[in-house]
Amino acid sequence: MAETLLELRDVRTHFPVETGFVRRRHVGTVKAVDGVSFALARGEVLGLVGESGCGKSTLARTILQLLPTTGGSVWLGGKNLTAGTADEVKLARRHMQMVFQDPFASLNPRMTVFDTLAEPLRVHDVCPPLEIPGRVAQLMERVGLSARFMRKYPHEFSGGQRQRIAIARALALEPQLVIADEPVSALDVSIQAQILNLLAQLVRDMNLSLLFIAHDLSVVKHVSDRVAVMYLGKIVELGTATEVMERPRHPYTRALISAIPTVHTVDGRTRIVLGGDPPSPLDPPPGCPFHPRCPYAVEKCKAAVPPLLPAGPEHTAACVRWDEIPSPHVS
Ligand code: SF4
Repeated sequence: MAETLLELRDVRTHFPVETGFVRRRHVGTVKAVDGVSFALARGEVLGLVGESGCGKSTLARTILQLLPTTGGSVWLGGKNLTAGTADEVKLARRHMQMVFQDPFASLNPRMTVFDTLAEPLRVHDVCPPLEIPGRVAQLMERVGLSARFMRKYPHEFSGGQRQRIAIARALALEPQLVIADEPVSALDVSIQAQILNLLAQLVRDMNLSLLFIAHDLSVVKHVSDRVAVMYLGKIVELGTATEVMERPRHPYTRALISAIPTVHTVDGRTRIVLGGDPPSPLDPPPGCPFHPRCPYAVEKCKAAVPPLLPAGPEHTAACVRWDEIPSPHVS
């Protein structure tokens, strides 16, 4: 079994909500991430899916220690980052890099590609200054860009090329973990496949661990070894990509899968349309957080938050009725 690189143990990221100008008054708590646990092995790709606002990006920033944890712990390579000193966290960040959704916003428009890629090499003193141009050229070629473009600015590239530059910057320090937060959502459909193939190839070539965040399961299933589904700050289903896609146990996952557009309907899949909006994390419903929208909710669903429990081989789900709900492939 592959060695674990990243481990989250009951991670919580809560934000206090205050009101009042002179006298601040605590009026509530937004539980953006609430009790998330999973492990990511070296060389593994874990897809993290859920609707906008479910806490995916907050979780990414919590892993990178860009946001403080309210509780629980984040472990990287056997070290507890949440208990680490500022210097230890800074050192660990070298091994964890992020690729953002919008490459135009994440790249400095005043910096050439060379400056963008050389900066982390200089700051972390990775190699002698004379070797930097060669390292930058290697990085560009690794992501499928010609090194002769290194003196150009981000606005001179297409959206897909800009995302390749952002990926090259993330690889500059040869990280062990890359967190890609909706890396293809801002790209044309024709370019998305190229970036997904590039990420998959980099994972293979560099033995990278990749946390791939997206709101679209059809994108996640192409690159992921395992898939985690997040709803209102919690993981509600986790399993191998095949298990989750072919035998989804949680009604929310089933609704997400049923929303994937298909060309034909020979699989007899029924479209599940969820009613209402996701509840506010400031005032989550009691019991199962999905019960106000769940077509299978019964009284016992409101009693307690269902824990993630085994629901098949290498498959867990947080639903008290997963074994009673009919197959999604039968209409
Ligand atoms: Fe639906 Fe109940 Fe399962 Fe929650 S526990 S997903 S409300 S059936």
